[in-house]
Amino acid sequence: MRDPRHDILFTPLQIGPKTAPNRFYQVPHCNGGGYRDPSAVVEMRRTKAEGGWGVIFTEQTEIHPTSEITPFIEQHLWDDRDIPALARMADAMKSHGALAGIQLAYSGINGPNLYSREVPLAVTGGPILTFTSDPVQARTMDKEDIANLRRWFRNAFRRSQQAGFDLICLYGAHGFGILQHFLSRATNHRTDDYGGSLTNRARFLREIVEDARETTKGELAITLRMSLHEGGPQGFSNAELRDFIAMHADLPDLWDLAQGSWEACSGTSRFKDEGAQEDLVRGIKDLTPKPIVGVGRFTSADAMVRQIKAGILDFIGAARPSIADPFLPRKVQEGRYEDIRECIGCNICVSGDMTQGISRCTQNTAFMEEWRKGWHPERPRPRGTSESVLIVGAGPTGLEAALQAAKRGYKVTLAEATTTLGGRVTKERALPGLFAWGRVADYRTGQLAPLPNVEIYRDSPLTPEDILAMQADHVAIATGAIWRRDAVARLHLHPIPTDPGMPLYTPDDLMAGHYPEGQTVALYDDDHFYMGSVLAELLIAKGNRVHFITPAVKVAEWTDNTLEQGTIMRRLLDLGVETHLSKAPEAIGAKEVTLACTWTGRQTALPCDAVLHVTSRTPNDRLYHQTKALDWQSAGIKTLKLIGDAAAPGPIAWATYAGRNWAESLDQPDPGDALTFRREIAALDPGPSLLP
Ligand code: ADP
Ligand code: SF4
Repeated sequence: MRDPRHDILFTPLQIGPKTAPNRFYQVPHCNGGGYRDPSAVVEMRRTKAEGGWGVIFTEQTEIHPTSEITPFIEQHLWDDRDIPALARMADAMKSHGALAGIQLAYSGINGPNLYSREVPLAVTGGPILTFTSDPVQARTMDKEDIANLRRWFRNAFRRSQQAGFDLICLYGAHGFGILQHFLSRATNHRTDDYGGSLTNRARFLREIVEDARETTKGELAITLRMSLHEGGPQGFSNAELRDFIAMHADLPDLWDLAQGSWEACSGTSRFKDEGAQEDLVRGIKDLTPKPIVGVGRFTSADAMVRQIKAGILDFIGAARPSIADPFLPRKVQEGRYEDIRECIGCNICVSGDMTQGISRCTQNTAFMEEWRKGWHPERPRPRGTSESVLIVGAGPTGLEAALQAAKRGYKVTLAEATTTLGGRVTKERALPGLFAWGRVADYRTGQLAPLPNVEIYRDSPLTPEDILAMQADHVAIATGAIWRRDAVARLHLHPIPTDPGMPLYTPDDLMAGHYPEGQTVALYDDDHFYMGSVLAELLIAKGNRVHFITPAVKVAEWTDNTLEQGTIMRRLLDLGVETHLSKAPEAIGAKEVTLACTWTGRQTALPCDAVLHVTSRTPNDRLYHQTKALDWQSAGIKTLKLIGDAAAPGPIAWATYAGRNWAESLDQPDPGDALTFRREIAALDPGPSLLP
């Protein structure tokens, strides 16, 4: 049974003309699918409806071709032909009683229009402010453009209502929406009646909220998504936001408040705790009679209740917690707290959007595979004809494989060489800032423990002969990988000359507690994700001086995709780490490293006491190959597979995905050369060629 203290989360609350059934509010979030993968997004949102969210939103929906933040991965509401896909989305959202919301966006200074090729229009013209520094500028809108923009919004309001949505969210947060560009003195330099005073800068917002009410005849709720604090001397600060809300207390039906830039709002657990925006939002409720939703990577029902009881928030906003566990509200409602699959705050989901791929989630392996592969975040598909499986290795891959196979009804044996379940996560969770990553192991071990069809053997390093003797129908080898000691990765495809007199370390050494202390360490990072900078922090904490060497033009380059790169650079600078960009070791001597510039080849000597290579990993695939060399079929084994890091090392999300993929494939027909997922192909236009 649920704790009665959490009852408040299940009280309905009015949002303008609509009533939300509870306080769980899935704020808009991207997913790397957008209009390119309509059915994949629809089925993803449907799982949130089933999981009990009271309000469910689309991602950014762009209303006109003069405004596209990315070419493919947001929603479009450009003309009536976009309505059917969004109508299907609204239907899915409402399938279990939730309110369906659409977030309408006009990107202005953030829209390079790479697909539509239209001239970008902005409150004040200038270079497009995207992550990718696109080399185009936007033109300043004149009064006619502003009138056009109001009409385009009115068209979008009408189409949203036609598609069946209950709520319209006007996007003015994260620096992305044009509403913020009007409000902020950083992006609004106008001298007409849309610029200057706060009253003037707020004019457009007032106008389109009125337009929205008029167009939808007051039947839809209108919400405003705004940044709690835009940085910089001219930014729309928290103080100015409070003035704005006090002046327009009744304007929207709900205030949706999201901290500053996207980086600040969606900080990783390495740099931001649960409920991190509390100071910025506290007290705003006193300025307005309208309900407030705020985010904070909330996964604990106690933390949610505290925010509501303290009068800080009315609705608990969630993007990532709803991705990691679409069934979070239902689990709280039923008092199944231990079943909540908590977000680990890694931002791998964000990276799907940033790379224009389709997003994945480290914790919820079904995310964005609901339609493509028919994977459900909670409900397993039934067991096939065979009965038993053996999984060797209890890292993220092995644990997810075991859990999913067990949920399907197979008799599962999981063998782990060490005394601890979790593999790489057991070690990485002890590193600075990565504590929350332990949830990958904790959730799965917690779920496996009560299952009667699972046997777990710790302290059991298996040999090929052991595997054959266990006579399982299916065997998965998930034995992980180890970091290389020879600098081989992307830049150096072969080992570099190395003097045996220089102490060499790998991440595995440090994680096992073997690290230099009080020395000068050259850290070579050709991995470009989190590990290099995390270990730099660890080395500094152990009293070392650290030289961070990377062939890239910035440290931890790939963390641009997890919105962490800037924070990591600041952290390294604050810790006194010396960075050597566009450099790589050519040779390692007994007392120094010879560095070469990656552009000119010019060499410099860097004296040091030790070298740490954060480069690439070697799969632990010996057990697999040794077993494969035996007559395993005669031992009754039907399939023998190598999965996860032992097959192809990657981030933890790739490992959990590999575990799920294996468990889902059990007793499925071999797809041969056929695709293993569904996809949608654009309908061909029947019209004639337009060429003269
Ligand atoms: P992944 O990310 O693919 O799950 P990890 O390195 O995290 O990979 O986990 C691999 C796990 O496999 C580790 O916990 C390791 O102790 C275990 N392991 C490696 N070799 C064997 C073996 N021969 N028998 C049982 N467990 C093994
Ligand atoms: Fe949370 Fe990581 Fe999943 Fe994103 S990918 S929802 S941050 S666990």
